[in-house]
This record gives sequence, C-alpha cells and structure tokens, in this order.
Amino acid sequence: MKKSYDIVIIGGGIIGTSISYNLMHDGFDGSILVIEKDPTYEFASTTLSAGGVREQFSLPENIKISQYSIGIFENFDDLMEVDGEKAHAEFKQHGYLFLANEKNWPMIRKNYETQKSLGAKVSLLSIDEIKKLIPHMETADLAGEVPLVLVMGLLTHTGPCRDIKRKARNWE
Ligand SMILES: Cc1cc2nc3c(=O)[nH]c(=O)nc-3n(C[C@H](O)[C@H](O)[C@H](O)COP(=O)(O)OP(=O)(O)OC[C@H]3O[C@@H](n4cnc5c(N)ncnc54)[C@H](O)[C@@H]3O)c2cc1C
Repeated sequence: MKKSYDIVIIGGGIIGTSISYNLMHDGFDGSILVIEKDPTYEFASTTLSAGGVREQFSLPENIKISQYSIGIFENFDDLMEVDGEKAHAEFKQHGYLFLANEKNWPMIRKNYETQKSLGAKVSLLSIDEIKKLIPHMETADLAGEVPLVLVMGLLTHTGPCRDIKRKARNWE
C-alpha cells in the first residue's frame, strides 16, 4: 500500500466501486484507493438491496438514469469480462407491475405519461389482461387500468459490485 493516492474513495459498495471503475474507464490514470470498513458487506445497502431495476419513476432525470443503467446491465456480463471470463449479473427482464387504485391512479397515470414521453417501455394493462398474466391476483380494489413496465430487470444484488470490483482491479 502506498502512502498517498490521487483519489481516495470511502466505501466500497456499488457506488464507490462503480466510481473507481468509471474514473479509469473515462481515462483517469492516477492512483485510486477504495477504503471499505467491512469486507463482508453485512450492513451495506448493496447487499441488502432487492436488485430491482425499473424505468418507472416520476422525474425525467431518474427515468433517464435508469434507461442508461438498463443499457449497461443488458451488456454487463461482456462489459465486465476479465481475461475471457464473463461477469454474472444474472440480469433478467421480467416486467415490474405497479398497481393502481382510485387514490393513486392520477399520480401513476401522470408518471406513466412522463415515462412514455421519454421512450420508456411501459404499458397500461386492463384488469382482464392482469388476470391473464397473474390469475391468482386479487383485483377487486384496482382502478380500471394498471401500468406495467415491460423493460425491467432483476439482478443479483452482490453480483454487479463484485464484478465491477474485479474489472477495476484488473484494469489495464
Ligand atoms: C432493503 C433495501 C432494498 C433496496 N432495493 C433496491 C432495489 O430494488 N433497486 C435499487 O436500485 N436500489 C435498491 N436499494 C437501494 C440501493 O441498495 C442503494 O442505493 C445502493 O446500494 C447504495 O450503494 P452505496 O455504495 O452508496 O451504499 P452501500 O452499499 O451501503 O455501501 C457503502 C459502503 O461504505 C462502507 N462505509 C461506510 N462508512 C465507512 C467508513 N467510514 N470507512 C470505510 N467504509 C465505510 C460501508 O461498509 C458500505 O460497504 C435498496 C436498499 C435497501 C436497504
């Protein structure tokens, strides 16, 4: 370990790890130290996370950030490959269902319009369509239409952090 580094990042969760990788990816060639107090990540949000990725947000900024992330995750295993060994984000896109009742329907509808205007792959499903998709769902208290995002993924919560760290450590 050296006595000093050009950049020191405190915390080696997904954010600190990703910053270190992206600095190098974007051409920074100085020294970087990531300090992590708990190598088991027992209480880190990264390992506690459900690992959900979705485009359904209300603010355009968040929708765009998510769309960028989805592009990264779709190619993650190749992007984070090291010495011919692919990464394992286990990114699977299934759909992410938001349910609307009379109370939250105006907000969900407004958010849906924002998402749609930004090219998000979201759809409004009727209760009949929902019933076909998930026959055992109780739908008595739902509003007439229910938005479903079609592009959404679930990934393992620890996998991406581990894979980005491996890529950053092996950066050439
Ligand atoms: C239950 C739960 C479910 C979630 N589900 C989702 C989801 O489905 N989708 C989604 O996008 N987001 C989800 N999130 C949010 C997401 O997990 C966090 O936004 C993300 O993991 C934050 O990453 P981070 O690196 O900033 O923080 P962390 O993963 O918490 O990493 C911070 C690290 O800093 C270390 N640290 C702290 N202080 C010091 C110090 N002084 N010195 C050295 N190291 C230090 C800690 O040990 C920790 O490892 C969820 C969060 C939780 C808690």
